[in-house]
Amino acid sequence: MSLKQMMPDLFKTIAFRLTLWYAGIFSVSSCVAFALFYFLATQTIQEQTDRDLLEKARYFSTVIQRNGLMGASKLAVIEAQAAGEKRIFFRLLYPSGEVFASSHMSYWKDISVDHGAIDILSHTKGHVFKTWLMKPHEQKARVLYSFVASNVILQTGIAMDFQTKFISAFKTVFIVSMGFIIVFSTVSGLFLARKALSGVKAITRTASSISGTNLEKRVPETGNQDELDLLAVTFNRMLDRIEDLIKSIREMSDNIAHDLKSPLTRIRGFAEIALVNMDDLETYRGMAANTIEESDRLLDMINTMLVISRAEAGGGEFIFKPVNLSAMVKEMCDLFVPVAEDKEIKFTCEVADHIQMEVDAKMLQRAFSNLLDNALKYTQDKGRVHVDLCWESDGFVDIRVTDTGPGIDSAYLEKIFDRFYRVESSRTTPGTGLGLSLARTIAREHKGDLVVASQLGRGAVFSMRLPYRNIPII
Ligand code: ADP
Repeated sequence: MSLKQMMPDLFKTIAFRLTLWYAGIFSVSSCVAFALFYFLATQTIQEQTDRDLLEKARYFSTVIQRNGLMGASKLAVIEAQAAGEKRIFFRLLYPSGEVFASSHMSYWKDISVDHGAIDILSHTKGHVFKTWLMKPHEQKARVLYSFVASNVILQTGIAMDFQTKFISAFKTVFIVSMGFIIVFSTVSGLFLARKALSGVKAITRTASSISGTNLEKRVPETGNQDELDLLAVTFNRMLDRIEDLIKSIREMSDNIAHDLKSPLTRIRGFAEIALVNMDDLETYRGMAANTIEESDRLLDMINTMLVISRAEAGGGEFIFKPVNLSAMVKEMCDLFVPVAEDKEIKFTCEVADHIQMEVDAKMLQRAFSNLLDNALKYTQDKGRVHVDLCWESDGFVDIRVTDTGPGIDSAYLEKIFDRFYRVESSRTTPGTGLGLSLARTIAREHKGDLVVASQLGRGAVFSMRLPYRNIPII
């Protein structure tokens, strides 16, 4: 991949954007901290300077009281010399602004008398501070105007060299620190983003290595219960479900292939026999009848599959009409009496009277006949089959078919409702593996359910529960 192709991808990555955010937030907050520190430091230095100047003004005031104006004039020169003539100056003025004494002013000649400040001072009688930029020296000075006697104003100024030094040192520290902070935050941001997203990469890697034939790979789960771990767990669960689904689709297609193969082989066999015995009309007719019978069975199977799929997809064509369920169940039982008699099975039917419900009668008959057919088919000769139609206390009607047949291993209790699923031991008995699946779909279309209770060797109870509520009683 060329660099040009890679660049837009890099900008789009979450890691890049996180790094940018991290570095940005880190740098901006550092700038704010620096600004705050700068503001507080300069403020403190200025306050200290102002306090020093006020102290000087108080001293001059005391000297004037004790030694008069002459004393103050001498003090101005001595104080400036003692502190350094480039550091401090003193001027004594009349309220008119006329200077009558000062320290040595050659360094400070840029600073004149500010009449505006004197006006303010005359009105407030307090003191006025001004900050002055001395252009020739490129240095700031803090200047105080204050009355030191009733008609004497002291103008005194201090070079703000400490503040100037502080600002230049601050600038250096700021530039170096910000450079370091930007580099540090970018590197650590990149590191953190990569670390945080490494779980996502693992999921992406696993997802891209999965194919139709290789579904057993899973994303490593850390067990930290953080967002990425939950994502990994959810992803793995999704893979489990997909794997189960694909497995059951494979099983189902195997079953379909198997179940379609047998009748088709038989049909082919009939056709072959008919072809060999072309002259024998009787055999010819017999084979044609067998072919029709097998074809009908196949068609029935395909139709059943269609009913189940349509109902499961929500497009079932069920027609609900008020039906006397009690009468319907009785009639169905009567239909199966000859089958029971053939196997000498004790077949009993106990039906609660006058249960009137809105159902799809044809579909419900199909479901019920599948249950009865199974019970009589799987129960051995001389066994017992009992049918119950009764009210349940929770607003349901229960159609129960109990038999004394071979029962069902608990491992297959749910599987038997899958399409085409037949327990291995039943494979010798004729059937398609669609009966229970259809019966359950029909029960569910009626907002009810079909469940089974059974133990191997102890018979089975199939219970189709249908809700009675919201169905008008006639
Ligand atoms: P089929 O009966 O055509 O095989 P079903 O869907 O009706 O298909 O039943 C699925 C499987 O459930 C059967 O193959 C059988 O193993 C088991 N089964 C159903 N009803 C009974 C029953 N009453 N007693 C024991 N096993 C049963």
